[in-house]
Amino acid sequence: MALMRDDSKLEPLEARRRQVADAFAPGGALARAVAGFVPRSSQRDMALAVFDAIVERGTLVAEAGTGTGKTFAYLVPSLLAGGRVLVSVGTKTLQDQIFDKDLRIVSGALGTRTDAVLLKGRQNYICLHRLERAAGDGLHETREAAAQLRHIERFARTSVSGDRAEVSSVPETAGIWHAVTSTQDNCLGADCPRFEPCFVYRARRRALAAQVVVVNHHLFLADMALRDEHFAELLPTVDTVVLDEAHHLPRIGNEFFGEGWSLAQVAELAADALATGLHAARDGAPWIDLTRSLEHAAREVRVSLAQAGLAAGSKLALDRLSEPAAVADALAGLQQRAEQLNAALEQNAGRDPELDLLAPRVERLRAQVLDWRQATAASAGAAHGQTAKPAPASADAAGDAVVRWISASVSGAQFRATPLSVSDSFVRARQRVAQAWILTSATLTVASRFDAFLGEIGLEATTRRWDSPFDFRQQALLYLPDPMPSPNSEHFAEDVADAAWPVICSSGGRAFVLCATLKAVARVAARLEQHMEQSGTRFPLLIQGKGTRRNLLQTYRNASGAVLVGSISFWEGIDVRGEALSLVVIDKLPFAPPDDPLVEARVRALRSQGRNPFIEYQLPQAVTLLKQGAGRLIRDEHDRGVLMILDGRLLSKSYGRTVIDSLPPFALTRDESVARRFFRGS
Ligand code: SF4
Repeated sequence: MALMRDDSKLEPLEARRRQVADAFAPGGALARAVAGFVPRSSQRDMALAVFDAIVERGTLVAEAGTGTGKTFAYLVPSLLAGGRVLVSVGTKTLQDQIFDKDLRIVSGALGTRTDAVLLKGRQNYICLHRLERAAGDGLHETREAAAQLRHIERFARTSVSGDRAEVSSVPETAGIWHAVTSTQDNCLGADCPRFEPCFVYRARRRALAAQVVVVNHHLFLADMALRDEHFAELLPTVDTVVLDEAHHLPRIGNEFFGEGWSLAQVAELAADALATGLHAARDGAPWIDLTRSLEHAAREVRVSLAQAGLAAGSKLALDRLSEPAAVADALAGLQQRAEQLNAALEQNAGRDPELDLLAPRVERLRAQVLDWRQATAASAGAAHGQTAKPAPASADAAGDAVVRWISASVSGAQFRATPLSVSDSFVRARQRVAQAWILTSATLTVASRFDAFLGEIGLEATTRRWDSPFDFRQQALLYLPDPMPSPNSEHFAEDVADAAWPVICSSGGRAFVLCATLKAVARVAARLEQHMEQSGTRFPLLIQGKGTRRNLLQTYRNASGAVLVGSISFWEGIDVRGEALSLVVIDKLPFAPPDDPLVEARVRALRSQGRNPFIEYQLPQAVTLLKQGAGRLIRDEHDRGVLMILDGRLLSKSYGRTVIDSLPPFALTRDESVARRFFRGS
C-alpha cells in the first residue's frame, strides 16, 4: 500500500516532500487554517525528517523540546506520505488532543479526508454478553450495584461505541465494571451469541479499515507482546508507526513483556466461576463452596505476605521476604484450591462454552501459583543459611533475565517476573514488519545524547533533536538556594518548606512542591501549614493522599493560587497551563528508590557486566523525569516560572553539571531576592 523505493516515483515523492515543507511555511496550509499558527523552522525540519524516515521505512528517534509542535510535525508528513498510520501515545491527555483536535485540524488544513479511529483496550468497552449475564444472574444485588447495572444497560442500548468512559454516572473504580467488561480470557470470540454487535470487535473492525489509528502505549505493547508469542494481533499492520511520548516505552514495556498474576485476578476468577457455574451447571458442583475457599486461600496469601514484611503500598523482591516459608505454605493452599476448582470444571466439561473457557484460566493460575510456590520455597531454603547474598535474577521461558517481585495493596498483591531489559522485544518487533517507526518525545536525551534511551530499547536509529523555541532565559529561572539545606539533616523536610515558603508567598501560591518520598510530603505540607497559620497568609493547600490524584488536580486548576504538595509521581502526565503553575519546588533529584526490586536487579546486572549503572541507568531516568517537570512549567511563549531545586548534589557532584546541561537553558540564580522579584514581572 505504501510508497517507496520505486525510482519512477522519485518525482512525486520530491513533490510531496515539498508539500510537507510548504505546509509549515508562512502563508502555507497550516498558517491559513490555524489561527495564531507561528511558522517554526524546527517544526518544519522535524516534519521533513519524519517524511524521510517514512519513505525509507527507517527508524527516527526525535527529541523536540516543548513548543516545537511535534504532533503537527509528524501528522502532516504521515498524512501526505499516504499509507496507513498508527499513532501511539503515553497519556490520555495527548490521546484525546490528537484524536479530537490535531488530526481534524491537520487534515482540514491539508484538504485531505482522513478516516481515523481511536482504539482502546478491550476492558474499555462494555461486553454485551457479560452485561446480559450480569443483569440476569441476580448476583449484583446491593442497591448501588443494581442501579449502576441499570445505567450501563441503558447506555449500551443506545451507544454506538460502547466506551465505558461515556458512562459518567458510574465511577471508574466501581466493582460492577469487572462483571460487564471482558478480558482476553473470558471472551467467547466468534462463538459469542453477541459477536456481531459486540463493541470490542466492532471497534477493531473499524480500526482495521481506518487510515489512522490512535492508541495508547499499553495497547501498542500488548499487541507487540501477543505478536511476539505468535498468538494474535490486536492492531492493524500499518506503514508508519508513530510512538509519541516515547520516553514511557521502556517502563510500560516492562509491564507487558513480564509475566505475572494477582490476587485480584483470583477474585475475578472466583466471581466468574461462581456466576457461570450457577448459570450453566448449577447441579454440577458445589460452586459456592469451591469459589469461597479459593477466595479464602487468596486472603491467606495476603496475610502471609504481611507477615513476611510486605506492607500495603510497597514492593519487595522475592528474595527479600523475611518469612518466605510461610508464603510458600499459603501458596500451596491456593494451589490446592485451584486444583479442586479445576477438577470440578473438568467434570462439567462440554456443558457450556463459557464454563469451558474457565478451565484454561484456572489451569494457568494453578501453574503460576505452583511456579511461585517453588521459587518462594527455594528462597526460603536460601534464607536458611545457604547464602547471605540476594539471589541473582532468574530467567524466563525465552531465557531472558527476569526479577521476581511482589507488590501489595491493602487487600491485594501482584506477583511479577519482570525482564531486566525490554530491548530484545523491541528489536524483534521492529524487524517483524517493513514499516517506518518514528519515536518522539520532549525528553529522550541526557546532555543532548540519546545513548541511554537507545540502549533501553535496543534500536538502531537516526537521531535528531530540536530545542524548545521558547526563550527559557527570559521566561524561566532555575533557583538553587544558597545555602542548600543538607539532605542528611533530620529536619530536611522542614528546611525545604522553610526555604520554599518566601518564594511561594512571592509567587502567590500557584506552586507544586514535589518530594522524593510520601513521608516527606506529609512533613513538608505540615510545615507549610504552620507557616500559613503563623503569617496569616493562606493558600489553598492540596496534599497527595487527601483525595484522588484527579480530584486534587481538578481542585488545583479551579482554585486560585493553590499549593499542591505531592511525591514525584505527580510530575508526569500533568498539564496545568498558564499562570496557574508558576513555581515548581523539588526537594531532591528524582532518582528511583535503590531498593525498588527492578532498580536493584538492574543495578546488580549492569555491575556484573562491568558497566556503570549510575551513569547508564539511574542518572538518565532521573534526568528524564526532571526534564518532564521543567517542561510542565513553561507551556507557551507567554508562560513564566521558577524551578527551585534544593538538592545540593546538583552543585557538589560531578554529575550535577550533566543534570543542569540536560535542562532547557534556564537563567540561573542562587539569590532568593532575584527568585522572588521574578514574579513581579508576571
Ligand atoms: S465477543 Fe467477547 S467481548 Fe464481545 S460480547 Fe461476546 S464475550 Fe463480550
